[in-house]
Amino acid sequence: MYFKTVAPLALTQTLLAFGAQAQQPQSPNLIIILADDLGYADVDFNGCKDIPTPNIDRIANNGVKFTNAYTSYSVSSPSRAGIMTGRYGQRFGFERNPPYEPHEPTIGLPLNEKTLAETLSKVGYTSEAIGKWHLGADVSNHPMNRGFNNFFGHLGGAHKYFPKDYTIKDSYAAIGETESYVTWIMRGHEPVQTKKYLTDEFSDEAVNFVSKNKNNPFFLYLAYNAPHNPMEATEEYLSRFPNIQNKTRKTYAAMVSAVDDGVGRLLDKLEELKIDDNTLVFFLSDNGGPVSHNGSNNGPLRDQKGSVYEGGFRVPFAFMWKGKISHGVYDKTISSLDIYATISALSGAPLDAKKPLDGVNLIPYLTGKNSAVPHENIYLRMFDAKKFAVRSGDYKLVTQKSGAIKELYDLRNDIGETKNLADEKPGKVSEIDALRAKWASQLIDPVFVGRNKDKNKEKEEK
Ligand code: CA
Repeated sequence: MYFKTVAPLALTQTLLAFGAQAQQPQSPNLIIILADDLGYADVDFNGCKDIPTPNIDRIANNGVKFTNAYTSYSVSSPSRAGIMTGRYGQRFGFERNPPYEPHEPTIGLPLNEKTLAETLSKVGYTSEAIGKWHLGADVSNHPMNRGFNNFFGHLGGAHKYFPKDYTIKDSYAAIGETESYVTWIMRGHEPVQTKKYLTDEFSDEAVNFVSKNKNNPFFLYLAYNAPHNPMEATEEYLSRFPNIQNKTRKTYAAMVSAVDDGVGRLLDKLEELKIDDNTLVFFLSDNGGPVSHNGSNNGPLRDQKGSVYEGGFRVPFAFMWKGKISHGVYDKTISSLDIYATISALSGAPLDAKKPLDGVNLIPYLTGKNSAVPHENIYLRMFDAKKFAVRSGDYKLVTQKSGAIKELYDLRNDIGETKNLADEKPGKVSEIDALRAKWASQLIDPVFVGRNKDKNKEKEEK
C-alpha cells in the first residue's frame, strides 16, 4: 500500500557537505504552497488515480514525501494561524474559523503573535502573501500589517473564481462571509479588477514575484483558495476530465489541475532563474478534504475536514530543496508547525523567547543527522466540540464529550481508525490522556467568536 511505503533517505555528498555548513546562517528562499481543502489521496504521490498532478509531484519526486504530516487544526483558519506562527493556535485562543468582520480588530490573529513574514523580515527577506488570507479581515490584520511586503488576494475564507461575479469593490464594505466571496481582489491595500480564472491569477502573481525577487532572499506564501468551494472551473480545465461522471468530482479535479499547472509554472521559473537549489518549497493542504462538499477523497483515512480523526488533519505534504535534501519518503511524524522552525533555524532569524515554537527544524531529521521522531506527540483540541486527539507514537487517543468517551487506535496497523482498543489497553489510554491533560493546561479559551456564533456550543464549525 502506498501509504505504508518506507524508503530510507539517501545521503548525498551535497547533503553531507551541507551538514558541515549547517551552523552558518543561510538565506534560502522559502515558498509555501498551501492548497485549501485538498484530500489526502488527491495527489499522485498519495495514490490518486483520476487526477494527474505531475507538477505537485515534482516536489515530492525531487524532495521528500511525508506520510505522517499533520496540520494543527482540521479547519482552515486555525490551521493557517499555526503555519503563520509556528505555534498551536490553541495557546493564544485561535481555535475557530473567524466570521468575516472587516471592522473588528479582535477577530483574527492576535497582534502580539509574530508571523513568519515578520520574523523573516528581520533577516532581510522580502515576502508576499498571495491568495486566501483568512486570518482576520480588519485592516490591522491585513497581511501588509502582519509582516508581508505585499499582498494579492482576498481576506476571507473562500472566494468565487470568475471575475464577472466580483460585485463588491471594497473588501471592507462586504458584510459577512458570503459577501466576502464576491469582493474584488486586493493588490496591496487596493481593490483591483482581475481578468482571469482566480487560480491562474494567483499563479501568474507567484511567477512574477519570484522573477522580481530572484536576487534577494524571499518568502512566498502562495495560499490558493482552491479546491475549496464554490466549485467553479474553466472549460479548459474541465475538458481534461471527460471520464469523470460525477459533476462535483469533475469540477474538483479541474480545480486541482489548475493548481497543478500553477505549481508547474512556478517550479519552471525557479529552474529558469537557477534558484531552485536555493529555495525550499513546501506543498500541503490546510486540512483534510470535506468529501461531502467538494468531492475530495481522503483515501484510507477516517472522516474528513473538521474531524479529530485522521481525515481531518493528516494531509498531503511534500518538501523540496533541490541539491540539498535527497529524494525519499519520510514516515515519521511531522507537523505544519515545522515550516516556521525550519526556515528560522536556517536563516538565523531571531525568535521571541516568550512565544516558544511548537515546531522543529526538519533539516537534521531529513539529512539523517537526527534519527529521532520530530514529534513524539501531536495534539489537537476542538474547544467547541469538546474533543481532543493526541497521537503518541503509533497510538492515538480521541476523547469526546469532555473525556466521557475515550477511543484508542493503533495507527500503524489501523490507519483507518476502525478498531477502538481503549478497553484492551487502559494503561495506554491513561498514559496518553496524561499527555493530553498536560498540554491542555497550557492552553487558553478561544479569544473570538466563531463563524457559526450561535451553533458552536453544540458543533464545531466547518
Ligand atoms: Ca481549508
